[in-house]
Amino acid sequence: MAIVEPRPFEWNFCGTCGQSLMPSHDGERERPYCAACSRHYYLNPVPACCVFIQDSAGSLLFGKRAVEPCYGQWALPGGFMEIHETGEQCALREMREETGLTGAGARLLGASAARSRDKGAVLVLGYVIEAWRGELVPDSDVSDLQFFSRAERPPVPFTAHRELLDLYDALNP
Ligand SMILES: [Zn+2]
Repeated sequence: MAIVEPRPFEWNFCGTCGQSLMPSHDGERERPYCAACSRHYYLNPVPACCVFIQDSAGSLLFGKRAVEPCYGQWALPGGFMEIHETGEQCALREMREETGLTGAGARLLGASAARSRDKGAVLVLGYVIEAWRGELVPDSDVSDLQFFSRAERPPVPFTAHRELLDLYDALNP
């Protein structure tokens, strides 16, 4: 049986009154609009982070995903930001949860926004971990952890991760 790819999430109905949205110009361009509530809807990205954890040889740590989306594929460790959390705190928390490692110092590399199948759009903040300690312990979101050199890196399913990896490589030739 063919697997039907879900459409990227879009606004179709008003979240307040439930009416169907119609395209309407907001002064810049056409966007979904609820006439009853006089409200335009925007595809704003949800903040998340990913971490760049290097070993002594300069290889980067990847986690094999044990959750959807992209179950079974390798990606940078990371996850979604919580309320009352800074980007640095999010990066260090997700690192600890997914890898078992404790990081000291997270330096912002850059940010990349991309469409997301289940969130609509995601803004991923990439953080380079300046120092870390501990033993690798994959948790329930990740079934395996492995350092990969640049030449051995697995294909990464997330556009934002790929863009941030390109940025990382450009700054670490
Ligand atoms: Zn409405």
